[in-house]
Amino acid sequence: MYVERILCPIVTLGPNKRLVLWTKGCTKACKGCISPEMADTGDAKPVAVSEIYRIIENVFKSEGFEGVTISGGDPFEQLPELLELVKMLRRITDDILVYTGFVWDEFSKTLSPETIDDITRNISVLIDGPYIPERNKSGLALRGSDNQNIIFFDAGKKKVYEDYIKNGRTLQNVYMDDKVIVVGILDR
Ligand code: SF4
Repeated sequence: MYVERILCPIVTLGPNKRLVLWTKGCTKACKGCISPEMADTGDAKPVAVSEIYRIIENVFKSEGFEGVTISGGDPFEQLPELLELVKMLRRITDDILVYTGFVWDEFSKTLSPETIDDITRNISVLIDGPYIPERNKSGLALRGSDNQNIIFFDAGKKKVYEDYIKNGRTLQNVYMDDKVIVVGILDR
């Protein structure tokens, strides 16, 4: 699996204390994409899913977190690896939020019933759709633009996410490799 980075603790991409993993690779080229540096896998080497899980599990044991967010890039462009990873992650959390630039209603029509079942049983919440800068509304928590949908595959997560969304957008600065990385949803 192509991975750009893993950060923890993050509190600006979903409720509670979370670990966030950014995948590398996206072919959609949305205008105004927040992470164009993650579009191309370039000369990056894929990492075995078992190794990614081992790293995340170690963070869980040492730091603790309540949820995992997987963004990118587009994680759904590495769907087999993504599903392998989320199945492993269910051992340590039941709150897994995934972003994709695909529109679920259309994309799901291209998938087998078994794959749909795998997705909907293991991913708790999906935020779908491309980023459209003209529809980036200030205060729109968790989503870059209002065409994107928040889909609760786990209906039990709805309340905690709705409470989180009421607080609007928040940003978190993370210092990494002498750079400041801003984590969260930015205004246009
Ligand atoms: S789907 Fe997401 S990562 Fe891909 S180009 Fe659009 S905004 Fe960027």
